[in-house]
Amino acid sequence: MIDREERGTRRDRRRRRQGGGRDTHSPRGISTRRVLLVVLVLVLGAGALAAYRILARQPYTVVLVVVDTVRRDSLGCYGHPRNPTPHIDALAAEGIRFDTAISTSGWTLPAMGSLVTGAWPTIHGAMGKQVILAPMREELPTIAEILSEQGYNTLGFANAAFVSPMLGFDRGFDVFSHRHAYTGEVRRADETIRAAVSAIRARRSEANFVFIHLFDPHLDYDPPPGYETKFAVERKELPPPLGMQDIMDLTTDGGKGPPVPADIAYVQAIYQGEINFADEQIGNLVHELKKMGLYDRTLLIVTADHGEEFWEHNGFEHGHTLYDELIRIPLVIKLPADILPARRIVDTQVRILDIAPTVFDLLGMERPESFAGRSLMPLIMGQSSDDRIAYVESTLYGTDKLAWREKRFKYILDLHPETEVPVELYDLEADPGETNNLVAARPKVAHRLRADLINFHNELAGESKTMSTPEIIDMSPDVVENLKSLGYIR
Ligand SMILES: [Zn+2]
Repeated sequence: MIDREERGTRRDRRRRRQGGGRDTHSPRGISTRRVLLVVLVLVLGAGALAAYRILARQPYTVVLVVVDTVRRDSLGCYGHPRNPTPHIDALAAEGIRFDTAISTSGWTLPAMGSLVTGAWPTIHGAMGKQVILAPMREELPTIAEILSEQGYNTLGFANAAFVSPMLGFDRGFDVFSHRHAYTGEVRRADETIRAAVSAIRARRSEANFVFIHLFDPHLDYDPPPGYETKFAVERKELPPPLGMQDIMDLTTDGGKGPPVPADIAYVQAIYQGEINFADEQIGNLVHELKKMGLYDRTLLIVTADHGEEFWEHNGFEHGHTLYDELIRIPLVIKLPADILPARRIVDTQVRILDIAPTVFDLLGMERPESFAGRSLMPLIMGQSSDDRIAYVESTLYGTDKLAWREKRFKYILDLHPETEVPVELYDLEADPGETNNLVAARPKVAHRLRADLINFHNELAGESKTMSTPEIIDMSPDVVENLKSLGYIR
């Protein structure tokens, strides 16, 4: 049986959206204090104002940073040996590192849709193939809409075609600064962080929700000066930037075989330079929050939408499979200083759609029903260690696939009737690289996971039929050209 809570429904959404935050951290709590302030000012005169400001509890600042295309093992705190991410590692040491965080897909649009709506891809609807894309269903509220209704300033900074207003990602934001998709403008992480910091600084005494999406590690691999070959031995015949075609030129066997190991290592090292640069900028963000006196009151979350394949399963990039190099993402949470976590490392399996409910929980707000995930706070506070089911779906290229991931076993189902390997089962403890298909060897486990996967998928599909039909985006030739240059269209 599927836990109804996992699935979420649309019932009572509007009522809940209009319902109140009841917590002293919320700006609504501050409104009450503002009434008191007026009384104080009337009674005691203007001198009371300063006293009130000292006594008043500042609202939390919420900063959600998504670095696109970051493999879990590309971060130092997840085991990368060459210290590429000291700033994210420091946040993990001070906060909580989630060891088994699973996205809902292996590419940007469905994964980001799940992050901001808290819904599974079939429910939020933002998926597609190549240039045929659907936006998020409008009846689903986004985290920005919810927090905006609670009085938060909502400040968004995004840098990809798939995180664009066209697909609904600007919903609920007072400020939504978006680059890249339509214009071909590239905004690196340093510029994005500077824009975010300046927006926060202008509202530093208010309640702010800040969403920052950094695109740097995504193709093209084009680290800025000083980072280009920091993790690689320089190769004069193939200097960065590396685009899709440069990398395809390295493949063997007429494009069917992977590049030789030295070439794979080189490509991955250039990618690693981009991650190192993005990490530096996250360090700058932390520094600026400290300078503004906001850091201790900040909930800071760093995660990714999906990873990147470097031929672990004979492929490159992302969007084409549901293996762990694409769907197991980094997740680091730094809590406000007045909340002491009981655990620094959580190895319970969690999902990208648990992030928004965690924010609501921490702000003392009710979780709207359409958000199917659950707060991570019970895991952080040591009150629970129950693994959560992970359902994964949607491919941008190739045949459609679904996956069901438990902590130990993972089942992948290819929906194409003539596919070569229609079903796969992996024991992730014994075989984290997912190379030994156990469907024949472990038929009972395969049967159980298959039944759970299909039941869950059918429930979601049934519910989605009762929802609105998202209007398919007719991509303009300019956008198509831009996506082609990014390797999104092959
Ligand atoms: Zn992405």
